[in-house]
Amino acid sequence: PEPSLFYLKAFIERMVELARHQNPCDHITFHTKIDPADLILYADENLISQVVINLLKNAIQAIGNQPDGQIDIQVYCNETEEVLIEIKNNGPVIPPEIAEHIFIPFFTTKKGGSGIGLSISRQIMRLSGGSLILLPDNKETKFILKFK
Ligand code: ADP
Ligand code: MG
Repeated sequence: PEPSLFYLKAFIERMVELARHQNPCDHITFHTKIDPADLILYADENLISQVVINLLKNAIQAIGNQPDGQIDIQVYCNETEEVLIEIKNNGPVIPPEIAEHIFIPFFTTKKGGSGIGLSISRQIMRLSGGSLILLPDNKETKFILKFK
């Protein structure tokens, strides 16, 4: 990885623009909250953008044609100075028996899916000294990226 410092607010805005451009999603509302607004990350921006784009694409696909689709992105810093990016969507939740496989390379439930997005994303986060998890929840789908 080739880390550099970058502002998360501008980064997330670019990611949302890119995701909207790459996937048909005019019916989906995106909410972003970056707190504090001037939060900075030291990481390989190109690699992290692949992770965020993968997660946004999955969220858009999970919502599908559902009319009230919502994607929420929250970025904040916790008590131990770790930066967290949470990406949440209101599509159908992932059943536990599926959730246990989603980070395995080539696992997919999609027709024509590659099943590579989440496994690569987790690898990138580990290479960057961070982590990627699915928050266990029976009401919503939330992925959390954590940077040390
Ligand atoms: P692909 O998108 O090609 O299927 P991924 O590695 O990106 O591969 O995702 C693996 C699987 O995880 C998907 O096929 C899907 O079953 C599940 N998944 C990932 N993100 C979501 C999400 N936001 N909502 C519901 N299921 C998801
Ligand atoms: Mg995917």
